[in-house]
Amino acid sequence: MQTNHQHRQLRGDLLVLIAVFCVLGGYLAYRTKTYLNQTTIQQTTTMRTGPGIEYRGTMELPKGTRVAVIRSKYEWLKVTTSANQQGWVPAWKLPAKYRPVIRSLKNATIVIDPGHGGSDSGALAVHGQMEKTYTLKFAQMVAAKLRAKGAKVYLARDSDRFVSLKARPALAKRVHANLFISFHFDSSPDENEASGFTTYYYHRGPSLQLAQDVNHQMRHLPITDKGSRFGNFLVIRNNTVPAILIEGGYINTSHDFQYIRSPRYRNVMTSDVVTGVQHFIETNH
Ligand SMILES: [Zn+2]
Repeated sequence: MQTNHQHRQLRGDLLVLIAVFCVLGGYLAYRTKTYLNQTTIQQTTTMRTGPGIEYRGTMELPKGTRVAVIRSKYEWLKVTTSANQQGWVPAWKLPAKYRPVIRSLKNATIVIDPGHGGSDSGALAVHGQMEKTYTLKFAQMVAAKLRAKGAKVYLARDSDRFVSLKARPALAKRVHANLFISFHFDSSPDENEASGFTTYYYHRGPSLQLAQDVNHQMRHLPITDKGSRFGNFLVIRNNTVPAILIEGGYINTSHDFQYIRSPRYRNVMTSDVVTGVQHFIETNH
């Protein structure tokens, strides 16, 4: 009887011991797996409530903070810290392999730049209408159409206000945009002596490709297609992302201006731009 009792006691102790090892082992395996799934913040950054600089910051994550990546949206990553705090950080603050590959407008970040604004009226039509008015209308319509397809769009200005030239490409750099488009309308030294739209690029490579993709879609517009051309404009020259500048017709040529001012031309042209951008995003990576 005594021996039997001792045996049962021993067996019980063993079971407890095994259980403790199992729990400990499981915990260690869990911690190791968690650790291995983590990566390190490369530069001190702010964790935000959503995937963009416009969202509220919740905490600073110093360089070296370990985080686990849950998912990506645009150029942002949703992460969890070791202390279980969740939020969004810019993918460019993590090792390069975490940078999302953008293959659709749903994940694209785009900067749209309405030329001129505020004290800078731009060129004038024959009867004094200002270029800045139409660049904003076109930019806002393109922005609305891109947003409807899920893209994140930043406008260099969303009202009639002055914005410096260098602030426009700086915005594209700050938000790590996938591309940048500036809207303008041409003017000639004398009224009614020129006609047509042109898509300008400065840098070869992706900017040239973007210019061709967009210009190709605009080929059926009712004014002359002057093609995609090299243009030395600061907003596309000083740009760190694929950048183009569209001159959507001659504002001081009555033939072109009747289109520039028409909602129908604006609607068709902005849809063409969206189709061109979509093609660029889906094929250029
Ligand atoms: Zn202009």
